[in-house]
Amino acid sequence: MIITIDGPAGSGKSTIARKLAARLGIPYLDTGAMYRAVALRALRLGVRPNDAAGLIECARQSHIELDCGPTFTRVVLDGEDVSEAIRGMTVNGATSAVARLQPIRELLVQRQRELGRRFGSLVTEGRDQGSVVFPDADLKVVMDATLDRRVKRRHLEMLADGEEVKVQDILDNLRERDNNDAHQWAPLLSDPDVLQLDTSHMTVAQVVERLLAEVERRRARSASAARTANSR
Ligand code: C5P
Repeated sequence: MIITIDGPAGSGKSTIARKLAARLGIPYLDTGAMYRAVALRALRLGVRPNDAAGLIECARQSHIELDCGPTFTRVVLDGEDVSEAIRGMTVNGATSAVARLQPIRELLVQRQRELGRRFGSLVTEGRDQGSVVFPDADLKVVMDATLDRRVKRRHLEMLADGEEVKVQDILDNLRERDNNDAHQWAPLLSDPDVLQLDTSHMTVAQVVERLLAEVERRRARSASAARTANSR
C-alpha cells in the first residue's frame, strides 16, 4: 500500500507520516530530506543558489542513501550521516533554489520511485508525492494548517533541537516556501478521491486515527471491488 502526504511546511506531514508508518509497520519516506541533502552538499561546495548548472551537477554527483525505518529516516550523504545537519535554517533557505530546478526534481523523483518499487508499501511525504511521483497511490492526502499554527509548530521544533531562531525568520521562511511549493500539490485539491485535512485544531493522535480509519475504508473498498470483479 502506498500512502502519499503532501502539503506545506509545518502542516504536520512529517510527524504524522512517521507515526502512521509505524502503526502500519511499513517504511516512511521523507522526500524533503533528499532536497535538503543536495542543498547541504551545494552549500559545502560553495555552489551559489543562482548557479543552476552547478547545482544540477552537484545533485548528479551526490550519493544520497535513505534508511527508511518506520519511525525515522537516516540520511547518509556521500558516506556521512547528515540527518541532523540538513535541518538548520541555512539549509532551509538553500533548499528552495535546489527544488526549483526541473533536472534535479527528475533525478530525485526517479530515486523516490525506485524506493517505492523496492519497498512495495510506504508512507511518503513531500510536495509532489500524490501529484507526480505516485499518482496511483492507494491513499493520497493533502495536509494543511493556518500559517500561524505552522509557525508555532516550527518554532517549537527548532527550540527542541536547540536552535535559537526568531519567530519572524520562521514566518518569512514559511511564506517564501509557500510561494515556491504550493503549485506542486495544487492539482490534488480538485480530486475528490484525495483526502484534504486541516490539522490546525487537531492533535497528532486525532490525525493519525483519522488516517488509519481512511486506510481501513480504502482497503475494504478495494476488497469489495476485487470480489465484484471475481464474481463476473
Ligand atoms: O519537507 P521539507 O520541509 O523537509 O522540504 C524542504 C523543501 O524541499 C521544501 O520547502 C520544498 O521546497 C522541497 N521539496 C520539494 N518536493 C518534495 C519535498 C520537498 O520540492 N517532494
